Amino acid sequence: MANGPSPKLSAPLEQGVPPRVRFCPSPTGNPHVGLVRTALFNWAFARHNQGTMVFRIEDTDAARDSEESYNQLLDSLRWLGLDWDEGPEVGGPHEPYRQSQRMDIYRDVADKLLAGGYAYRCYCTVTELDERREAARAAGRPSGYDGHCRDLSDEQKAAYEREGRESIIRFRMPDEPITFTDLVRGELTFTPDNVPDYGIVRASGAPLYTLVNPVDDALMDITHVLRGEDLLSSTPRQIALYKALIELGVAHRIPAFGHLPYVMGEGNKKLSKRDPQASLNLYRERGFLPEGLLNYLSLLGWSFSADQDVFSIAEMVGKFDVADVNANPARFDLKKAEAINADHIRRLDVKAFAEACEPWLRAPHANWEPEEFDQAAWEAIAPYAQTRLTVLSDITANVDFLFREEPVEDEASWQKAMKEGSDALLRTAREKLAAADWSAPEALKDAVLAAGEEHGLKLGKAQAPVRVAVTGRTVGLPLFESLQILGREKSLARIDAALEKLGA
Ligand code: GLU
Ligand code: ZN
Repeated sequence: MANGPSPKLSAPLEQGVPPRVRFCPSPTGNPHVGLVRTALFNWAFARHNQGTMVFRIEDTDAARDSEESYNQLLDSLRWLGLDWDEGPEVGGPHEPYRQSQRMDIYRDVADKLLAGGYAYRCYCTVTELDERREAARAAGRPSGYDGHCRDLSDEQKAAYEREGRESIIRFRMPDEPITFTDLVRGELTFTPDNVPDYGIVRASGAPLYTLVNPVDDALMDITHVLRGEDLLSSTPRQIALYKALIELGVAHRIPAFGHLPYVMGEGNKKLSKRDPQASLNLYRERGFLPEGLLNYLSLLGWSFSADQDVFSIAEMVGKFDVADVNANPARFDLKKAEAINADHIRRLDVKAFAEACEPWLRAPHANWEPEEFDQAAWEAIAPYAQTRLTVLSDITANVDFLFREEPVEDEASWQKAMKEGSDALLRTAREKLAAADWSAPEALKDAVLAAGEEHGLKLGKAQAPVRVAVTGRTVGLPLFESLQILGREKSLARIDAALEKLGA
């Protein structure tokens, strides 16, 4: 493959033809962030250009595809808010949108390709292919399929059939270089040596990705294919196949292609779908907001502006152009993803924030009994939580002191806060808090401040034992607001319990 000068191209949009893009995952395993990035870029491109987003399920591999994975894909896109105009459940003019229900179409196209001489039956056995590949390698020749069955005579074919050999169908690649202009990478040229004739139908008659994907893109009138760089090598094959499909009257156009950069994970290795860090469910379970996650994923290969990386999805759609996608690998940075998510949490209005936390406030996530949950206390503390959370799942540990009968027992926090003299300090603090006016948190702060002064402790040191006595933890939401919302009676009782424990 030779790299061209890589000019930055604006996606060529045919005059008056709104773009049609597709997101076409195979339903295997759990959705991962690379997949979501592909869906997002296609969706943003469609929305920016008033185009159509087609959602197609590439489920031609019965051994690997699962209904569970299919359902997860739909559920994930819905959760993210990436809607589709044609596809499962919404229908459209090119139904069905599940390839497993389109087998007749592929059989028909494969027959046409064979009849037109664009494809041929290959009778080579795996052993023969392996031997010839080895020999070619040893001789320094290209090691792809050598075209052995390209032009078999009828007698040769008949002889193979009599032997009972199985055959696959191969597409006949043209003997000339293929050049195309990638929307991200500029002009690319592939020489025939690098793109040998390739299988499109298995011996069993099952059509392969190499056939079904471009056939459906043609039949569904896709204008732009935006997909991961891992699929770059299939593009010259598909372009040749499109030319054949156009000659056969099956296709009307060759779509424009744009290959999105690799995403690198830990240790600068390609983020693999099996990487735990890549699992979409993980982000969902940790309480990423859809907008926060999409904002972050949009930065994998694209940027909003030089000095702004937090924005709404509507803002992203307003600016998105595939010509601005960067060809260099993008690095997945969890810390940055969390920081962006935190910003999106702050952007919610407090009511929406309180609602977004709901799933974590209810069992089984919560570490309190469902009947202990106190809606008024939650509404009072929510504004303080909103400015501190990175992911919503952290809410539980931050507010459990409000709902549990007793604070959690966290031995590490206890050891850290309860030093020599802590009992004396706590006793003074308790006295002063008991005498304080509980209608405002400032008075509670003054009480603890004064207790600290008596013992020669700054506020930070003086409040640590109080915090652990009342909340069970060394870190949490602003202490005096927390005390006030929990209330005088409970707060003092917890300090008493801690004093008792220290005395024992
Ligand atoms: N089903 C293919 C995949 O998930 C689609 C590739 C493509 O976008 O062409 O890898
Ligand atoms: Zn062959």
